[in-house]
Amino acid sequence: RENEAQPNEEMSQYPALRAALSEKQLQHCFGYIRRLTRKHKPYPHSTAAQCMLCDEMMWRVVEKDGSSYLEIMTAKCRKKKQFKLTGPYCYANKKKRGDIQLILDRDKKRLEVHRAINAVAHEIRKPLRKLGMDKGLATLISCSSGQEYGAGFGGLVGAEVERINDRNTNRNEYIQSAKDLREEKSALQKKLDKDYSAKTKKRIRQRIGSLERQIARLEKHHLGSKLYHRQHERNQRNMERVMNTSIRQMLVAEDSDVLVKEDLTFTREKLSKASNRYEAKVRRKLSSWTKGRLDKRIEYLCGSLGIQTIDVNPGYTSQFCPRCGAHFSERKGAHHETAVCSNCGEMNANTAAAVNILQRADDKEITKYMPYKKVKLILEDRYA
Ligand SMILES: [Zn+2]
Repeated sequence: RENEAQPNEEMSQYPALRAALSEKQLQHCFGYIRRLTRKHKPYPHSTAAQCMLCDEMMWRVVEKDGSSYLEIMTAKCRKKKQFKLTGPYCYANKKKRGDIQLILDRDKKRLEVHRAINAVAHEIRKPLRKLGMDKGLATLISCSSGQEYGAGFGGLVGAEVERINDRNTNRNEYIQSAKDLREEKSALQKKLDKDYSAKTKKRIRQRIGSLERQIARLEKHHLGSKLYHRQHERNQRNMERVMNTSIRQMLVAEDSDVLVKEDLTFTREKLSKASNRYEAKVRRKLSSWTKGRLDKRIEYLCGSLGIQTIDVNPGYTSQFCPRCGAHFSERKGAHHETAVCSNCGEMNANTAAAVNILQRADDKEITKYMPYKKVKLILEDRYA
């Protein structure tokens, strides 16, 4: 209830208390209340929207007193629930049925009925515009048109890797002290079996109790994983949002009909250097997560916009010059983003790779599943 209160109303609550406290004290108060009430709040993702799928046996539309009602089955036998339909559409559609989706929008305070319809696909008689794209970690998407999207993504990934790394470094200290305490405890427990006076045994038992309390405190406050998972999920959601926005930006700005991308199912990516083994592991995990997610989102968004996608052979797309076909002599920059061709000079390596990928779409010689060694031979042959 408190959440739904209007802001004005909220401000006028407890005026005497508000007047008595300074701005800083008020802030402390709010923080304290938030901490106390947080665990009683439901998760945000479960309250914003909820949906339910009904197959065609579970729903129908009935006409009553001049208005339409949606009738759905409930868990009770022969008991049906009716909702008055209020949207400006015609519902009296008795022939075509199918699955519907009921979506509860709590913000708009309404129940929505979603249903898929058959649409007629119009044949478009314009030349197909193709766009090549290269996926990366530092810059999410580079296009053959020379544009790049999602430039800040590398920073997000780097910050998350650093956060996890720091957290584990801090944690090691507590893991070590918990281990020491446990060792001391088991040593004392062995002592209890030997012959000591009753007084000594009592002292040992007291010490064991104290150790147990210390271990419990460490596990509760320093070695838990709830907060860690919550923070990690929040950061991942944030990264997904950036991915989504970048893909949408690209699809809108480039306005192409066919998207050519690499088939990265079988390849491994070179990652920037990590300072230790653990960091390398985190980085690898995040990178493969990004790759999978990005691919899924691209497929989904292209599908919903009617854009065709083509997967091509990923071999050596980032190592040969798209203009003259020579092997790049050098890669420069913090993320190897500048490539040097001995004939054409410096260029953006990512967009050059995107041009190569675009050219692969019309390449009859290099097929999708050709081994990369063969691809290299063909490319070297062509330049020679
Ligand atoms: Zn060149």
